[in-house]
Amino acid sequence: MIHNFNAGPSILPSSVFEEASRAVLNFNNTGLSILEIGHRTPLFEEVLNEAVSLVKELMQLDANKEVIFLHGGASTQFFQLPMNYLTKDKKAAYLDGGVWGTKAIKEAKRYGQVDVVATSKDKNYSYIPKDYAVPHESVYFHYTTNNTIEGTQMHSIPALSMPLVADMSSDILSREMDFNKFSFIYAGAQKNIGAAGVNLVIIDKKFLEKSSSSVPSMMDYKQHVSNGSMLNTPPVFAIYVCLLTLRWLKQLGGVAAIEKINNQKAAVLYDTLESFPIFQLPVPKEDRSKMNAVFTMQNEMLEKKFLDRCNEENMVGVKGHRSVGGFRVSMYNALPLSSVTSLVDLIKDFGNKYA
Ligand SMILES: *Cc1c(COP(=O)(O)O)cnc(C)c1O
Repeated sequence: MIHNFNAGPSILPSSVFEEASRAVLNFNNTGLSILEIGHRTPLFEEVLNEAVSLVKELMQLDANKEVIFLHGGASTQFFQLPMNYLTKDKKAAYLDGGVWGTKAIKEAKRYGQVDVVATSKDKNYSYIPKDYAVPHESVYFHYTTNNTIEGTQMHSIPALSMPLVADMSSDILSREMDFNKFSFIYAGAQKNIGAAGVNLVIIDKKFLEKSSSSVPSMMDYKQHVSNGSMLNTPPVFAIYVCLLTLRWLKQLGGVAAIEKINNQKAAVLYDTLESFPIFQLPVPKEDRSKMNAVFTMQNEMLEKKFLDRCNEENMVGVKGHRSVGGFRVSMYNALPLSSVTSLVDLIKDFGNKYA
């Protein structure tokens, strides 16, 4: 049994892998592979329509929200968004909470003025900046809900008057939230939604109206919406894997049900780490991510020993990102509680031995 703590692409439910592999050979008993059916066929239209309606249902979106699937991953949204909404005399506000937010800021600066309202760069992004002012003339306010690399997460939605934009790549569908408060949400699929190669985008209709019509068609949100995510050939297989994962989540009881499990996983892991002083948690309690837990150890020799133990016990993906070091344990929706308790047993054993 392998325990998969990869940060992304990451674990998906095994039932999803099974059904997706069957569909590669024979999709819904059509005798055709999901990879060879035309996208403008009733067969694929059903896949896309069901995926869109499941997103709306699971996130409890109101009638003002448009749901589309786009190419290019979350990184494409780093520039597609400002390309649509900024000009040299317009300003957007950004919260700089981590490596991904920094990348979004860099791209936005190509198109307009960027006001970085706060940053946690001074401490290697190990906390969530608080108490900042956002200029009211900002076209939008952009932030990353969960900082995948640094293991921090924003646990409340900022109360601001301008349109809210969020990169939710690594915690979408993991917890209940009033998603209708956002004008624009985007998320690469490969962490909580499905397979790499597709990006989920949710746009409020009023915000959509303000998007540019002079950008290339493939960058034009209005065209993607009016063409129902079929402006060109969509990434059909990636969208199909999203559908299967969304169905799995609904069957499990939806976002509220998965949030309970996610809370349990995070609590047992952080509590255990805190009880052994050989582990250090760089993120203060109130900012800790329930998706990606980051920790380090006192010295490199111990870290190497710990990593060896993880390898021996088939725990994969626990090595920290190179910018933070130490360890990062990703606990996305599909990771079972049993994988976390297995890791917790290893941590206790290791902690007792090297205390
Ligand atoms: C993984 C990740 C990205 C990058 O996604 P791509 O699909 O590789 O472009 C962006 N933002 C966050 C928060 C992420 O976790």
